[in-house]
Amino acid sequence: MKKLHNFSAGPSILPQEVFEKAAAGVRDLNGSGLSILEMSHRSAPFKEIYNEAVSLVRELLGISDEMEVLFLTGGASTQFFMVPLNLLDEQGQAAYLDTGTWSTKAIKEVSQFGKVNVVASGKEDGYTSIPKSYAVPSASTYFHITSNNTIYGTQLHEVPQVDVPIVADMSSDIMSGPLNTDPYGVIYAGAQKNLGPAGTTLVIIRKSLLGKIERQIPTMLNYQTHIEKNSAFNTPPVFPIYATMLNLRWLKANGGLAGAKARNEEKAKVIYDEIDRNTLFEGVTVAEDRSLMNATFVLKDPSLEADFVERATSAGCVGIKGHRSVGGFRASIYNAMPKSSVQALVDQMQAFEHHVTSH
Ligand SMILES: *Cc1c(COP(=O)(O)O)cnc(C)c1O
Repeated sequence: MKKLHNFSAGPSILPQEVFEKAAAGVRDLNGSGLSILEMSHRSAPFKEIYNEAVSLVRELLGISDEMEVLFLTGGASTQFFMVPLNLLDEQGQAAYLDTGTWSTKAIKEVSQFGKVNVVASGKEDGYTSIPKSYAVPSASTYFHITSNNTIYGTQLHEVPQVDVPIVADMSSDIMSGPLNTDPYGVIYAGAQKNLGPAGTTLVIIRKSLLGKIERQIPTMLNYQTHIEKNSAFNTPPVFPIYATMLNLRWLKANGGLAGAKARNEEKAKVIYDEIDRNTLFEGVTVAEDRSLMNATFVLKDPSLEADFVERATSAGCVGIKGHRSVGGFRASIYNAMPKSSVQALVDQMQAFEHHVTSH
């Protein structure tokens, strides 16, 4: 079987070792005589898996006891409304930074719960850069950011200096490098970009932010419910949590988040150096805000696109088409992507340049 170089933005690549261990657990979990798929979420083996996943998240990110770690469902998209539903009073105001599609979707959900203040937006320049001059009023309940903009290929390389808790959608760059969690009130991430399979969402929440509003919150949508029940108020997504735990083990064994950062910077340099060097291609975003996770680029002559996609695909490089809303190309090079796969794509870009310019 030929393994492809998978540049998909999500669901996306995981380490081969994680795929193999997850598959083994589907057949028989550690010699238990049961598949992970048929095992009670209240059983001792699953509780062990869950506890290990939570403690690995705590260890890798260096999270203090003031924050809770949850594995929920509903994707990052559910957090878009769960955050204001749980934290924002009707009279309150939340500040948001609009850096692209996912931020916009998060912003859309807020007004049914309280006031939303979009402090800056990258919309006018097509979200090709991250706005940097804005003020976040200190009366804001929280300041929401999208740390990595999966579709446009920009990333916040500095944590904004604000005096309110930061709420961050880190779906596409969670665990891509070390993080100081002190400025954060909530961190959430759909697992399927950089953490595990689709089906669970990591939510890290500072306990002191809860219980401050009057509103009635449906039981399933109340963070407190899931904190009290260790994410098992209802049946949790056992398999996605298991595979995520395996991936967290892999991350820890491979140098933790410092190791991940070093590898990610090295890979990003390989692809961006080629985008800048190659006479046919150009980058989409401003250099200082380039994402280490999703490299976006275009062909200066768009009529060559189909030809390049075909050549790259037949060389095993798949998932490089840009998001349907922006076009062009996007190479998602998450934690698990080996440098050799990035090099395989770069080789195709060079071969394509040679093919086009020699005709
Ligand atoms: C993919 C993505 C989402 C949506 O995640 P779901 O789990 O599908 O709801 C939200 N935010 C960012 C930054 C993403 O990349």
